[in-house]
Amino acid sequence: MNQVVIIGGGASGLMAALTAAENPENRVILLERQQRIGRKLLATGNGRCNLTNTGASPANYHGEQAAFAAPALEKFTPRDTLDFFHGLGLLTVEEYGGRVYPLSNSANSVLDVLRFALEKAGVELRCACSARQIMRQGAGYSVQTDAGTLEADRLIVACGGAAGAKLGGVMDGYELLKPLGHKRTALRPSLTQILTEPDYPRALKGVRAQAHVRLTAREELLGESRGELQFTETGVSGPAAFDLSRLAAANGDGLRLHADFLPDGADAFALLCARRETFPDQPASELFTGMLHNRLGRMLVKYAALEANRPLGSLSDKELRRAARACTDFTLAVTGTEGFDNAQVTAGGVRTAGFNPETLESWFMPGLFVCGELLDIDGDCGGYNLQWAWASGRLAGRLGT
Ligand SMILES: Cc1cc2nc3c(=O)[nH]c(=O)nc-3n(C[C@H](O)[C@H](O)[C@H](O)COP(=O)(O)OP(=O)(O)OC[C@H]3O[C@@H](n4cnc5c(N)ncnc54)[C@H](O)[C@@H]3O)c2cc1C
Repeated sequence: MNQVVIIGGGASGLMAALTAAENPENRVILLERQQRIGRKLLATGNGRCNLTNTGASPANYHGEQAAFAAPALEKFTPRDTLDFFHGLGLLTVEEYGGRVYPLSNSANSVLDVLRFALEKAGVELRCACSARQIMRQGAGYSVQTDAGTLEADRLIVACGGAAGAKLGGVMDGYELLKPLGHKRTALRPSLTQILTEPDYPRALKGVRAQAHVRLTAREELLGESRGELQFTETGVSGPAAFDLSRLAAANGDGLRLHADFLPDGADAFALLCARRETFPDQPASELFTGMLHNRLGRMLVKYAALEANRPLGSLSDKELRRAARACTDFTLAVTGTEGFDNAQVTAGGVRTAGFNPETLESWFMPGLFVCGELLDIDGDCGGYNLQWAWASGRLAGRLGT
């Protein structure tokens, strides 16, 4: 019998454990420092668990060596994730943008079927048991835990990253691997709220809008995203903001966020001219009525420095061009991002150069595997990070076979 120890009972560790347990030669022991497994999983997707994205491809992933993720993602695709979960009896539904959720709309369902599968596969769970230190011992490893030392012929480290600290995001994985020669990159919060000058967002708090968002530094485009933007007390959140947050966290001062609230190809000036012609007696405050959320429309009128009660018919072309620019290039100065507590994922992690992308085994510590968010791979918003957790957990759980 091979003793396989897995440190971390999150998405990637659970998948690694189930995969390793498919080989009857393996005795699989799963360590989890919290009272129960999958705590973060329960909080994903606002409690609904966006478990994969049918459009996920290596292009959705980032890191110093983003291409490292490709073999794992290609060996276990979103289709494989769906087949795997359907095989466990989970029913799923695909929503806008390829996001997949359990039909029950409850993350509990995902964790429940995984728990049943672990039990059936005979995986030994040890909860409330932290791994404290890993040491090379003979051809294997010894793992010091709160409850004594465990021997491992093969070891999988799946401790996750620093994000979502309230749900168990910790630095443990980085610390456990460092003495074995596996260093990490700088860590930054990602998929988190972008903080901006607060005046406009505060006034728009709670408003959601579809937007094409660009992030610039001194006129240079750093990145862009499309999707829902949500205004908050201190800035912007929602998928369109989340996808730019890793860049906002990495690029320091002088950043600006530009939102275009109209669909691609729309001629804002022509639309506003038509509005002026159709409703010349309406006040300027109604310029965007029917086009955008009312509160956003009124705010854009103010942003364009138009008097709210002037009749639309009295607005000059120059003023309408200003309003057109307001709704296609609404600009906010960026002051930072939220920290790890509120981030969904960690950008950066254990350097991938130390691992074989085809197996996720260490190049210089045979029998040591790493998977999930702990590695320097992070995905976009929309089910991509769990897809990485499943795919990398699957590959690590094969233990190089
Ligand atoms: C609020 C929130 C919402 C999210 N929503 C989504 C979503 O809808 N879709 C999506 O794709 N992604 C989402 N994510 C991201 C996704 O949850 C993570 O990328 C994914 O869970 C990472 O899996 P993992 O197994 O690598 O790490 P984790 O899920 O963090 O699991 C690591 C586990 O290891 C345990 N551990 C750590 N140190 C030790 C130790 N020393 N000994 C023993 N155990 C240890 C931890 O307690 C934890 O249970 C969300 C994240 C958050 C925080």
